[in-house]
Amino acid sequence: MTVHFPFQNSYSALPDNFFARVAPTPVAAPRLIKLNRPLAALLGLDPDMLETPEGAEILAGKTVPAGADPIAMAYAGHQFGQFVPQLGDGRAILLGEVIDKNGVRRDIQLKGSGPTPFSRRGDGRAALGPVLREYIVSEAMFALGIPTTRSLAAVVTGEHVIRETALPGAVLTRVAASHIRVGTFQFFAVRRDTEALRRLAEHVITRHYPDLLHAERPYHALLAAVVARQADLVARWLLVGFIHGVMNTDNSSISGETIDYGPCAFMDAYNPAQVFSSIDEMGRYAYANQPRIALWNLTRLAECLLPLFSDDQEKAVAEAQDILGAFAETFSTAYQAGLRKKVGLFRERDGDEALIQDLLDAMAKNQADFTLTFRKLCDAAADEAGISDVRAQFMDPSAFDDWAKRWRERTALEPQAATERQSAMHAVNPIFIPRNHRVEAVIQAAVNDDNYAPFEELVKVLAKPYEDQPEHAAYADPPLPDQRVLRTFCGT
Ligand code: AMP
Ligand code: MG
Repeated sequence: MTVHFPFQNSYSALPDNFFARVAPTPVAAPRLIKLNRPLAALLGLDPDMLETPEGAEILAGKTVPAGADPIAMAYAGHQFGQFVPQLGDGRAILLGEVIDKNGVRRDIQLKGSGPTPFSRRGDGRAALGPVLREYIVSEAMFALGIPTTRSLAAVVTGEHVIRETALPGAVLTRVAASHIRVGTFQFFAVRRDTEALRRLAEHVITRHYPDLLHAERPYHALLAAVVARQADLVARWLLVGFIHGVMNTDNSSISGETIDYGPCAFMDAYNPAQVFSSIDEMGRYAYANQPRIALWNLTRLAECLLPLFSDDQEKAVAEAQDILGAFAETFSTAYQAGLRKKVGLFRERDGDEALIQDLLDAMAKNQADFTLTFRKLCDAAADEAGISDVRAQFMDPSAFDDWAKRWRERTALEPQAATERQSAMHAVNPIFIPRNHRVEAVIQAAVNDDNYAPFEELVKVLAKPYEDQPEHAAYADPPLPDQRVLRTFCGT
């Protein structure tokens, strides 16, 4: 028996300048440390076969499975605002695409599988820490219901990668609706290759936005659709306290999935200016900046599409601006609707936005834990005694009292029973998020002690983020002062 991948590749059938054909570089001693069995099944892969030594060799890039057509994709990108005309997959190789059980085409990509023509000075490899981090956080995002790439497997390679020190090497198998980025469009736009841009746009429409195939102006409709998905995505990030950390245009997915988990983090205490990434010195990608940056990235996408809009540049620019203009409204509608749900409001009323903003302001001023404040509020909705647990999140607990009174008055205007409000709130306010200090501890145990038990347990808890799991209650706790992680690293 061999491991069967039902590949149906479409990207590698595009013109040669879209990618470089390159095989993964074999590694010394691959060892599977995690297989995402439910995801394997969803992809039509046999989890038992993937767990055999042959499966581990495939997931480490040591053997290329039948039907794969390994390529490194070409793309460009703005990194912290600076344009780089050629980036590309420097340490990732797309094995191919499969159609999953829901009929969705999915890329299967190895990350950390050796150098490609796009590696520049990089070694094409990944260290175990960042691989585990991406595995944990991407699967947590999925469980939270947020569009994201997923993690099928993690293997250690049996080799070391040299970063500041020698670290164990690893390969992540990443699954995505596609790996097409804003930067993929920029790659062709900067080369003034309008024909390639058209091919790419058509590929994207067919793959991600098939409803637009017969739109009157499909390229305009494509931009509008990506704007809508990104606006919705960023709203969802904010609603769970997620900070991507490197929202470069090459890390901005056209399908609207969260992609490229580097120095990403969930915040503990609510702070709109929060930054974790060690390389984000100016706070460009701070928590509350993310909507603005998403629009900035979409504006770069719009610039790429201008030649497809019209030969009349002025007209094309006006049309693009018009489409980008929808971002603010789409974002704010999604964000405000999400916030209303978080505080248990079923309908919209005048004054809701101000009411919720007052809560957020008090939380920021009092370093209230973002996740726990909302989670404890769910229970306060059902039981007055629960108020004390919310108060306890605030440095000065009395800062919550006036708000609590206003909130009671507001919720009393709705007919829903208290328990109905509580369960609706539980469904949108997670109790478990991948807290930085937990992620760090898991990585340390794996890297230093070859101990994956903490990783397994964290992944298991985070798979049900909205469910109270009393036996795992400690995973809900914020870090103690000496456990706080202040900086995260992209680890490339
Ligand atoms: P990232 O910051 O992970 O989004 O990566 C930015 C660019 O650097 C992409 O083109 C990556 O493929 C490339 N890159 C990152 N790490 C490596 C590495 N270890 N070897 C080669 N290329 C890399
Ligand atoms: Mg990237």
